[in-house]
Amino acid sequence: MPITQDPMFAVDKIKAAIREIPDFPKPGILFKDITTVLKDPILFNQVVDYFYHELKDKKIQYVAGIESRGFILGSALAYKLGCGFVPIRKQGKLPGLVERHEYDLEYGTDVIEIHTDAVEPGARVVLIDDLLATGGTAAASCKLLEKLNADLIAIMFMIELEFLNGREKLPTAINTHAMIKF
Ligand code: AMP
Repeated sequence: MPITQDPMFAVDKIKAAIREIPDFPKPGILFKDITTVLKDPILFNQVVDYFYHELKDKKIQYVAGIESRGFILGSALAYKLGCGFVPIRKQGKLPGLVERHEYDLEYGTDVIEIHTDAVEPGARVVLIDDLLATGGTAAASCKLLEKLNADLIAIMFMIELEFLNGREKLPTAINTHAMIKF
């Protein structure tokens, strides 16, 4: 039974446990702090199980996690799925040969990177991050996986800020799923 249909599974409880910090990291941003979920062993378990049940039959070979909270959720998920984990990182952090993609921010640009040998061409990959805001980071991550000719099966977020319409930046053909929406 998918965990979403399990009466014991409470998305609402997880939503309520997310702490909101106004004006972090800069004025006007309402930061969704998931450390209050991660420190609760039951809630953290349920978050990972939620993603696991969405993906367990999809023959995923790699979970690609976006720095840095995507590493926390992604590595726990990869362990549970019994597949590999690959990091997508900010510029200059990965030691090997990298593919990079530059994308626009509100002010300026940012660069993210993945190891060129992170996944084999055609590998079945799920992309994960904690939160979808404007979609720039996730869209750039999709581009990186595209450059490696990965088979992107799904994009998973714990939280989606729907009013920012980040989903519109993501490839429409890919199953994109957010556990909690604000
Ligand atoms: P974006 O590229 O605008 O979709 O931003 C997504 C990235 O920024 C994710 O890695 C999030 O962790 C982080 N982020 C953006 N907005 C917030 C927010 N309001 N609260 C927490 N994290 C955020």
